[in-house]
Amino acid sequence: MIELNYEFFWKEALNQQLEEIGEQEFNRWFALVEYRSHSDNVVTLGVPSNFYREEVKRRYKNSLEAKLKLISDQDITIEFEIGAVTPQIKIEEETEKQVENPVESIEKPAKPIAKPPVKDKKLLHPNLRLDYNFDSFVIGVNNSFAANAALAITKNPDGAAYNPLFLYGGVGLGKTHLTQAIGNYLYAHTDLKIIYTSAENFLNELVDSIGDKKATNAFKNKYRYTDVLLMDDVHFLQGNKGATQEELFHTFNALYDSNKQIVFTCDRPASELKHIPERLISRFGRGLSVDLSPPDYETRCAILKRKAEAKKVSIPDDVIALLSKNISSNVRDLEGAFTKIIAYADLAGKKITVEVAQQQLKDVFASPKQANMSVDVIIKVIAEHYQLSPNDLRGKKRAQKIVVPRQIAMFISHEITEFSTTEIGQTFGGRDHTTVMHSCNKVKEKMQADPKLDATVQKLVGLIKEYTAKS
Ligand code: ADP
Ligand code: MG
Repeated sequence: MIELNYEFFWKEALNQQLEEIGEQEFNRWFALVEYRSHSDNVVTLGVPSNFYREEVKRRYKNSLEAKLKLISDQDITIEFEIGAVTPQIKIEEETEKQVENPVESIEKPAKPIAKPPVKDKKLLHPNLRLDYNFDSFVIGVNNSFAANAALAITKNPDGAAYNPLFLYGGVGLGKTHLTQAIGNYLYAHTDLKIIYTSAENFLNELVDSIGDKKATNAFKNKYRYTDVLLMDDVHFLQGNKGATQEELFHTFNALYDSNKQIVFTCDRPASELKHIPERLISRFGRGLSVDLSPPDYETRCAILKRKAEAKKVSIPDDVIALLSKNISSNVRDLEGAFTKIIAYADLAGKKITVEVAQQQLKDVFASPKQANMSVDVIIKVIAEHYQLSPNDLRGKKRAQKIVVPRQIAMFISHEITEFSTTEIGQTFGGRDHTTVMHSCNKVKEKMQADPKLDATVQKLVGLIKEYTAKS
């Protein structure tokens, strides 16, 4: 039988879909859809999460299958597989190249097809790490919203997509990497002026310029006349930093009013920042806020595999599994462990094996870690405790006897699982991530005021862990 090239059909169908729905909608949904494989009349696509699977399926499955049928004259079914993906920013570049100079290539067939104009070779951007790019960023459930928003900005850097983008989450989860990936991409593909800086650096520059009128003006102009401002770690501005807060506020307004893209990162949601003027906080939250949470097991494996490829070292699957199972806190720790083993194996001239890894990482593995908790178990245990049904907790009923346990369930889910607030919201009847954050804050407040509740929550967490260990 002739082996048909399904991937070709798929690309064609995808191009048609792009024409039909336009770039913006297309990128919103297809930037994170990856062609995986095919078998008899089935094309399998990779998507980073349940959410994407359901939405892409609902919106486009029928339409894409109809296109595939027209193109291939066969009934091809689309199936989805959830797992870590790499951003698909290539499609658009390919179509761009194809239409770049159609007339010329037809009229003068002897000449090689005109290539798109190559940008002048630029020097490296002084503040961006080249390896923090989209190709090296693995997308999983934990970061798919954030990655998608970042990609959207690379497509619409004129502040039209989300402005500002406010990325928040704990340490080592990829905030800096993703922010710099935006910078690197735009730096390579456009002539926009791009500033990447940390809030701390911003403050230092401001302080250095104070007292020198020329320097102060230069500082102001530098930030107010950039095209893209990427500011990392704005939580640093908490506390008595009035002049810097004030300057950032004005910079923000100037850039925002002239449609310049701004990205902030922070270690917490804007609403939880302390000692920052309300008007600055409200600016942070004016566009889109997305959180990054720790990657799940599968994404951790994918990240390590990607790192191994990049470093051109071969590392056995069982070692990758061992590391991914034992280090769930964040990507930085995972990378640290990985680097340590490679360095050791290299120095000692040994092969990387499970034994070597275990030996080298004794200390790391000994620290307490989260088991792989499921939100279903949490809901089940809490429903039982409060004599409610799991559906009550997931549902919309507003009765007080349900609302409080539901908030507790969300709070515990956020505390002990690896799911993002967005994911948790999905599990709880499609609620918004801000609702989850709100519930978590409410429970925290109540626990502070009421030691009995604190004890109850501890007890519930104990029960959930027991249940998880048994099952
Ligand atoms: P944060 O700024 O949130 O503290 P970083 O962006 O510095 O975290 O990430 C810590 C390390 O983990 C970096 O080396 C980064 O390249 C890596 N990293 C984080 N997330 C990912 C990911 N999804 N894929 C690949 N590497 C990642
Ligand atoms: Mg960082």
